Amino acid sequence: MSIINFSKEKCRNCYKCIRNCPVKAIKLKDKHAQIIQSMCIGCGICIATCPHNAKQIHSDVDTIKKWLKTETVVLSLSAVFPTAYYLDHPRQYLGLLRELGFTIIEETSIGAEAVAEAYTKEYDSDQKFVISSSCAGIKNLIEIYYPQYLSSLSRQVSPMIAHGKILRQKYPNAKIVYAGSCLAKKMEVNDADVRGIIDGVLTFDEIDVWMKEENIIPNKMPVQEFDAIGTNTGRLYPVIGGLAKNSVEKLDGSRKILRIDGVKDCMQFLDEMHQLDKKYWIEMNTCDEGCVNGPGNLHSALSKYEKVEMLQTYIDMNSKKPATENISDIETKRSFHKRPVHHLGEVPEAELEKILNQMSKFSERDELNCGTCGYETCRDKARAVYWNMAELDMCLPLISSKSEAISNLIITTTPNAIAVLDKKFRIIEFNDAAERLFNVKREEVMRYNFIDALDYNPFKKLNYNKAYLYTGKGHYERENRIFMEILTYIPEQELYMGIFIDITKQEKQEQDFQKMQEETLSMAQRVIDKQMRVAHEIAGLLGETTAETKVTLTKLQKVVASREVEI
Ligand code: SF4
Ligand code: SF4
Ligand code: SF4
Repeated sequence: MSIINFSKEKCRNCYKCIRNCPVKAIKLKDKHAQIIQSMCIGCGICIATCPHNAKQIHSDVDTIKKWLKTETVVLSLSAVFPTAYYLDHPRQYLGLLRELGFTIIEETSIGAEAVAEAYTKEYDSDQKFVISSSCAGIKNLIEIYYPQYLSSLSRQVSPMIAHGKILRQKYPNAKIVYAGSCLAKKMEVNDADVRGIIDGVLTFDEIDVWMKEENIIPNKMPVQEFDAIGTNTGRLYPVIGGLAKNSVEKLDGSRKILRIDGVKDCMQFLDEMHQLDKKYWIEMNTCDEGCVNGPGNLHSALSKYEKVEMLQTYIDMNSKKPATENISDIETKRSFHKRPVHHLGEVPEAELEKILNQMSKFSERDELNCGTCGYETCRDKARAVYWNMAELDMCLPLISSKSEAISNLIITTTPNAIAVLDKKFRIIEFNDAAERLFNVKREEVMRYNFIDALDYNPFKKLNYNKAYLYTGKGHYERENRIFMEILTYIPEQELYMGIFIDITKQEKQEQDFQKMQEETLSMAQRVIDKQMRVAHEIAGLLGETTAETKVTLTKLQKVVASREVEI
């Protein structure tokens, strides 16, 4: 199941997520960023850094809404909740959740205490390194990318799962839902070893959207109580070092305790861990400062440090409150597994060179390593292309040099004059055809005012209020040329551009043709007139001779008739 991905419609192909993903689990296909689930550790950095909010996160909200109508639902609430909003009192958040329909709400810190207790037992083991397994992101990181340290990963479930187990004992028929700031936990609940313990996971961001749909205003909610609470031992777990503080830190000091937060630092540490020679207990979180700054709480207006401060205030408020829940006797042990992954492995040098050449990188000098494609180096990007994770044309310098080459080719080979002017009409581009058609040398006019240098001001025809575009004929008197002028102004760059198509020849042909047409017509008219005159004359003559013939024949008839009578 895909937990985190990007919306095809919203993705704008900017590569920022690729640049920020610490394990390069994002591929770009058909101009759309896509997360390879098997490579993703669920740290949520890509979601937090996407400038176009293209996130698409698997949500349990609709299912949970249905359960709230038909089932008993128990909510395990992460101690991070006071960081979701600036509230007059942190427990108004419980009022908000009750308004949404959650009746039974317990603190996840109850589970954190169970785990902290189990950690103290592992502290005494012979193992050189013990890495806390509370962070779902770290668990994923080690299972996928550092399987050599699987045996160092503490065999304990996370506080969420531990609390889920406690709740399952207490409410055997209820649906158990967890709410917090973590995205990786949406993945964790599906791990084979712990599947079925937590039925649904909500993030504070999802609760925020839901709350807005219901027109709930958090600060108007009443302050409410948990159904069961833990102690500050557990409440501290979302802060980096919090788990160690109230558990292993109190022990004999036979292990050095380290706290590392942020995926990059964690990865760097894991890369170098083999160099350490003492026994260590290591608490790691993929989020900076720990879960308190998790990626499922992005709507919060609080800064990272305000969140830590807010959580600390909440912890201080509760320091004297006794736990209402005795920790049940639950099994906190689990196992972790190496996960086969389609990994960016080594690529044969010949293949790499071939791809680099396709990216117009023919020598080391061409390898800019600018990182705009999302990869640290051109070679990393070429490797990603080999593994079908990236597309060749993701290289911005390549695209820009290609388009520059194409536009240069067009500008130099076109038969039309092209002139580009700055906002003061100074010529900054003047192509070969312009030299020919305006009959000036480029160097004589470059940086000079177009209107003065050429004694020609077609740009006054531009209508600045409309589309900054004019198309029409113009006469360049100095050379007696007729141009089809295409003139434009580019406001973003404050540039004028003119394309001048020489239509002098066609115009002359057109004029010659018109002249010939007119002459032919008048000649034809003259012929017609003449013909008419001749026709009239012929008709006149014909009329006269016909009448004369008629008179003569009548006379002849009469003469013949009189002769017949006499015979
Ligand atoms: S950050 Fe990634 S998902 Fe967001 S718009 Fe850029 S390429 Fe797309
Ligand atoms: S959640 Fe983290 S690991 Fe997964 S794709 Fe995003 S940045 Fe990469
Ligand atoms: S630090 Fe906490 S919120 Fe962040 S990934 Fe790990 S478990 Fe989740």
